[in-house]
Amino acid sequence: MKALVVGGGIAGPAAALALQQVGIETVLLEAWPRSDGEAGSWFTLAPNGLHALDLLGARSLATQIGFPSERNVMVGATGRVLGSMSLGVPLDDGTVAVTTKRSRLAAALVGEVERRGADVRHASRVAHVMSRPDSATVALEDGSTLDADLLVGADGVRSLVRGVIDPAAAPARYVGLTNFGGITERTPLAASLPARQWHFVFGSRAFFGAHPTPEGDVVWFVNVPGPVITPVERAARTSEQWRDHLVDLLATDAGPAADLVRTGRLELWADNTHDLPRVARWHRERMVIVGDAAHAPSPSSGQGASLALEDAVVLATCLRDAGSVEEALTAYESRRRGRVERIVAAGARSSSSKIPGRVGRTVRDAMMMLVFRFVVTDRSSAWVTGHRVRWEPDPGPALPSGA
Ligand SMILES: Cc1cc2nc3c(=O)[nH]c(=O)nc-3n(C[C@H](O)[C@H](O)[C@H](O)COP(=O)(O)OP(=O)(O)OC[C@H]3O[C@@H](n4cnc5c(N)ncnc54)[C@H](O)[C@@H]3O)c2cc1C
Repeated sequence: MKALVVGGGIAGPAAALALQQVGIETVLLEAWPRSDGEAGSWFTLAPNGLHALDLLGARSLATQIGFPSERNVMVGATGRVLGSMSLGVPLDDGTVAVTTKRSRLAAALVGEVERRGADVRHASRVAHVMSRPDSATVALEDGSTLDADLLVGADGVRSLVRGVIDPAAAPARYVGLTNFGGITERTPLAASLPARQWHFVFGSRAFFGAHPTPEGDVVWFVNVPGPVITPVERAARTSEQWRDHLVDLLATDAGPAADLVRTGRLELWADNTHDLPRVARWHRERMVIVGDAAHAPSPSSGQGASLALEDAVVLATCLRDAGSVEEALTAYESRRRGRVERIVAAGARSSSSKIPGRVGRTVRDAMMMLVFRFVVTDRSSAWVTGHRVRWEPDPGPALPSGA
């Protein structure tokens, strides 16, 4: 069997590794030229995602390019601690979540797909896809075409493959936050932040997150509530002007946020944040979608990449175990849909908690303290990060005793 995988982000190379592992020959197509892995923002891979990577023999790729993150500590604009929770149920050997760059992880995974012998093609943007009952075809922008028995759309939140599988699917939804991210290198301010923790600030005008690195840098992001920033508005300011704008927004909040941003460098700016709550169809004939193409949670969930890695394992094991491709794709969707839609919904609630409402700061802080004490806790979140996808076939229902 031969598969074409569209997209060299997280879901695409993970799917390619998983398909290779069950003996499916794979060609991976990525629109952009090969990246050095240093563009864009930092993110955290939760233990459930690391476990999925482990099943693909690729966990060390993530741990080698990132640093461990154990907790999230939430504070209000005055510096008052609102709550604290672990970054998930560690793996059996104690491994905790890992913070790295999305593009760094994507580059490492794509490199591993190539190292294991698959055909990886960069600068290969897919322009059209077609499916028939027993095969699928992609047409690249350069006019060439490729055929395979299966087409996996791992082409992100603005997926072209999704639009062909489900033409009625709603587009991704803007969550009311714009995203900015950066790094402050070799800064004395790193010492003011506890190691291996994200420090989150529910600020007066923006939400701020910072994490010290083992090298003495601090990586950070700012979520700014407001309408979508258009390409013209984005281009109207330089990255330094955007950084100055963030410093203004953070100036009245307690803690090192404004100083970190003022002395740092933006790596991502004016990025509109979207999620994708529900796509009615995930597969049609020989086409299927994985990762953000099927179910993008808001970044506030901290789960998008981990869910993409889980998808890859589940899709490959379904293809290995089912009697036909149709059966496999149906089984994949039915095993994944409930979990991912629940996480997308939780991510949407988390995003809206970052948008200051009409209540005053003191009331909001008091409400958030209650939320982190009774609602969003290690225990209530264990189903998310404690989930472990399986490589072994599903054992099925237990046989009656004596059988
Ligand atoms: C600011 C930010 C912070 C985040 N933080 C976290 C976090 O802390 N933890 C977490 O788990 N997740 C986080 N996420 C979400 C996470 O990045 C995504 O869920 C994850 O990248 C999804 O992987 P993917 O492969 O499905 O999509 P993507 O990573 O978007 O990859 C899709 C790939 O497909 C390629 N492509 C698209 N169209 C075509 C085409 N026509 N032809 C060929 N190639 C194509 C694209 O170039 C891209 O490389 C964050 C996201 C953002 C934006």
